[in-house]
Amino acid sequence: MANIIDGKAMAAEIRAELRASTDAFYDIYGIRPCLAVIQVGDDPASSTYVNNKIKACQEIGFVSKSFHYTSAMTEQELINLIADLNYDNSVHGILVQLPLPKHFNEKNIINAISPGKDVDAFHPYNVGSLMTGEASFLPCTPAGIMELLKRYNIEITGKECVVVGRSNIVGKPIAQILLQQNGTVTVCHSKTQNLVEHCRKADILICAIGKPKFFTAEYIRPGAVVIDVGINRDENGKLCGDVDFEAVKDRAGCITPVPGGCGPMTIAMLMQNTYTAACRQINEVAR
Ligand code: NDP
Repeated sequence: MANIIDGKAMAAEIRAELRASTDAFYDIYGIRPCLAVIQVGDDPASSTYVNNKIKACQEIGFVSKSFHYTSAMTEQELINLIADLNYDNSVHGILVQLPLPKHFNEKNIINAISPGKDVDAFHPYNVGSLMTGEASFLPCTPAGIMELLKRYNIEITGKECVVVGRSNIVGKPIAQILLQQNGTVTVCHSKTQNLVEHCRKADILICAIGKPKFFTAEYIRPGAVVIDVGINRDENGKLCGDVDFEAVKDRAGCITPVPGGCGPMTIAMLMQNTYTAACRQINEVAR
């Protein structure tokens, strides 16, 4: 049976560490890190994510400012709101919950966020900084994966790392980070030939395609570290990952479950980025 990587417990540990740092930050500066969360429309999944983020802020002792608009909001109105928050010194991080309703150009919205407050790290400035190894913030899901690997003492140097999925928010950045950490990285996608062969070479396999239980035992090299990023519903409506956990758990060396693996870590890393943003902004003011 594989070692189950407990993302839920680790995220709780990180939140507790952040709580202590936040209290110390308050003792020194008399303010608390503040995250502004913007939601447009009533997508139920987005509402759940937003609520979880606000709950995490409360637990850690951050201030959260929540902005919820109907889908009648225009792109210009949202850009104006972001501009106000960019200039508001009491706000350290700005998060726009995606996806936005169809009439928004998400790129325009992401580009409107000041890179120093872009705690999702989606702004092209932060994406570029990641490429050159100078990132101020790592995008939250890849940052969460790296933290899991680190805290479980999983070595990356020299390892065959196979990333399946090449999205801007998961696949591409995690591949880049693993490369910077001296992994030998292969990125696979929907046009990849012989996917099974690529995956079976992996010492560390990152599954991020959004297909329920797609990765069965034949994809897994015995003893591999399997990181399941997917969040899907199975045929019974139950939450599941991209990996067929039951089929893989006796073959993998370590595996993240869904739920309770990468998901909680993503929110913990958002909190970490908000704390980092607050520290940087305070130091800039002090300079
Ligand atoms: P996207 O839909 O943006 O990207 C999916 C990627 O998977 C694409 O690159 C696509 O290839 C590739 N792909 C799709 N089907 C196959 C296939 N059969 N074989 C190989 N590659 C394939 O997804 P995201 O990256 O946004 O999300 C992936 C999953 O992770 C989802 O389940 C999502 O819910 C979850 N997620 C979880 C998070 C967390 O906090 N745990 C955070 C973000 C996402 P191509 O480029 O060729 O189309």
